[in-house]
Amino acid sequence: VLPISHLGLLEMTRQRVDEGVLSSMYVDCPYCKGRGSVKSPLSMSVEIQRQIVALMRRHKDAGQNRKLQVVVHQTVLDRLRKEDEVVLMELEAKFSGYLSFKVDPARHVEDFEIRNAETGETLFSTTAKAGEVRPG
Ligand SMILES: [Zn+2]
Repeated sequence: VLPISHLGLLEMTRQRVDEGVLSSMYVDCPYCKGRGSVKSPLSMSVEIQRQIVALMRRHKDAGQNRKLQVVVHQTVLDRLRKEDEVVLMELEAKFSGYLSFKVDPARHVEDFEIRNAETGETLFSTTAKAGEVRPG
């Protein structure tokens, strides 16, 4: 029979091994980058509206096409179509623009893209590398 102190030491050693195994078995979630949460549909909607306004304003000033297609995750589209529908319609009216939406099932909930609806050209993308797409 081992003395108490030895048992305690053995116990601690085993715990340390378990923790080591656990930390090598898991890495930070790449989806939320270890935060444990992602941006809400409301937060995403605010960002998207800001980019729509910037693009429509720029295109209106330049006399360019204001037919935009917004590519988003399904949960973000649900928010845009329900709670924010009126706001988006007001933006269309204000800038004489037209908005259409497309769900990309593979898209991360925090990523969205705004395209020229006629040419398909990407006008804004959250995943674009610096300099690749001029931000609105
Ligand atoms: Zn996560």
